[in-house]
Amino acid sequence: MVDLQHEQRLSYLFIAHDLAVVEHISHRIAVMYLGRIVEFADTETLFSRPLHPYTQALLAAVPIPDPKIKRQRRILQGDVPSPVNPPAGCAFHTRCPHVMARCKQEAPQLIELAPGNLVACHLHQAGVKIA
Ligand code: SF4
Repeated sequence: MVDLQHEQRLSYLFIAHDLAVVEHISHRIAVMYLGRIVEFADTETLFSRPLHPYTQALLAAVPIPDPKIKRQRRILQGDVPSPVNPPAGCAFHTRCPHVMARCKQEAPQLIELAPGNLVACHLHQAGVKIA
C-alpha cells in the first residue's frame, strides 16, 4: 500500500485499530471514540506527545517487540458505552482516569492547540497538563 501510495500519488483514508500499522502508513491521524474525533495530529506528534487520555491509553497498549523494554500500561476501566446512547458530557468520562465534574455535563469541543494539532478534552481547554 505504501508503494502504491508513492507510485500512484494516492491518498488513503485508512481505518484501523492496530496503531502500529496506523503509524506505519499514516501522515495524519484522527483518533475517534464513540464516533467522534477526540484528537487529530500528524503522526510524529500524536505518537510522541499524545494529548487525549484515550489516545494515551491506546498508545500505552501497543506492544513493544523487545522483552527488555517495559512500558507502563494504562488499563481503561469499564466497558465501551453504546454508541447509540453515549454518556452525557464527554463520551469518554465513564472510563477516563482524569474525569472531572465538568466532564459529566459538558461535551468538550475539538480545539486547535497548535497548528494541525486538535484535541477535545476539558483538561487541555483548562490549560491542565497531563502526562
Ligand atoms: S473531557 Fe474529561 S472525561 Fe473527557 S477525556 Fe478530558 S478529562 Fe477525560
